[in-house]
Amino acid sequence: MPDCLPPDLTRLRDQVADLAREPLARLRDATDLPPSARAAQVRALSKAAGLFGLTQAAEPSELTLLVARETLALHGVGHLPGLFGPEAGLLEGVGEPLRSSHLLPLLAGDKRGGFAFTEPADAARPTWAEVEGDRLVISGQKSYVTGGADADFLTALVEVVGQGPAMVVIDTDLPGVTLTRRFTSLDGSHHAAFSFDQVRVPRQHAIGAPGDGRSRALGKISAVRRAIAADAVGTAAWIIDRVATELQRERRGGSRAASERIRLRYGEMRIQAYAARATVYRTARLADAGQEVVNESIAAKVFATEVANQLVDMAVQLVGGEALVTGHPLEQALRRLRALRLTEGESDTLRVNVARGHLDLGRGRL
Ligand SMILES: Cc1cc2nc3c(=O)[nH]c(=O)nc-3n(C[C@H](O)[C@H](O)[C@H](O)COP(=O)(O)OP(=O)(O)OC[C@H]3O[C@@H](n4cnc5c(N)ncnc54)[C@H](O)[C@@H]3O)c2cc1C
Repeated sequence: MPDCLPPDLTRLRDQVADLAREPLARLRDATDLPPSARAAQVRALSKAAGLFGLTQAAEPSELTLLVARETLALHGVGHLPGLFGPEAGLLEGVGEPLRSSHLLPLLAGDKRGGFAFTEPADAARPTWAEVEGDRLVISGQKSYVTGGADADFLTALVEVVGQGPAMVVIDTDLPGVTLTRRFTSLDGSHHAAFSFDQVRVPRQHAIGAPGDGRSRALGKISAVRRAIAADAVGTAAWIIDRVATELQRERRGGSRAASERIRLRYGEMRIQAYAARATVYRTARLADAGQEVVNESIAAKVFATEVANQLVDMAVQLVGGEALVTGHPLEQALRRLRALRLTEGESDTLRVNVARGHLDLGRGRL
């Protein structure tokens, strides 16, 4: 598909492709390398190539981020840890004391944060806080905090009694914070669950105005959804490339690419990938034009991740049982892509959000 990219982005795409094809692919395949050593080497390469800082720019261009992420995924390396620098996320624009105590150490890589939004299924009520003088006293539980076991602090959605939802920074070493469970999901990522028993934090640890916590969180989630969509369309293209190579391989009785029924499936894969990619590119361009793209980001995330899942499933079917052998690239992609339909908003919940925006609130242009 023609990208109609300006020359600087064409250059970026080619540079990222060179980086991905050789040194990054080599690191990905170095299975004997400890994960921390691999991440350090990826980080060094990414910094040298000017990629690492892209996510930390004051006003990053969505199209630039999309081109970088898609190109990495297209070469099967988009999931490597260490490619991009830590982002401010919900801490973007915070004033003192949070700026010095949490934001700057986060950006410098001296502190790690976790995003605590999801409540465990058995939580009696959403995590809440009582106001006590200049403190918030927090109780409740959170689960599925990615990287939570290594986090120095959590940015948690908390219902402040009498004020509404707030995003609150909670240091994980405070009295009353307990890491109750560590677990790994199918895609290989690590998560933690926490309980909070009357945890006291300064009121200044609430980010933004009281009551706007949920919309603040959703604004940031929108950017993460676009990042996931970029990864999904790049991975979809990577899957298609692998399938094409496999189908064209000479076998006894001729290549599978000669079969009409295989061509039908393969053609459908390309059509789906084209439609997903067009959606994701349009959304990035609208965001760069300063448009409100909450619904478009939902559409891009849901559509791109579902297409990528359908494609990897079909790829396994066309390649055959070999693709399901543990360690096969398609087997790894299948596990990784499955998680994307839940993370940062489960597909049906997002569909309902789009419907609600249009039917109940009269908002959104989809
Ligand atoms: C790899 C991975 C990383 C993650 N990282 C994080 C993280 O860093 N921080 C974080 O906070 N969370 C994280 N999550 C959690 C993720 O955000 C949630 O799994 C997701 O939002 C869905 O929530 P849930 O698991 O509670 O499922 P539920 O919300 O319980 O949904 C399960 C099913 O029930 C349906 N459903 C839900 N409500 C209703 C209803 N009222 N009526 C009818 N049907 C309904 C849904 O549509 C869905 O089909 C992560 C998840 C994954 C897989």
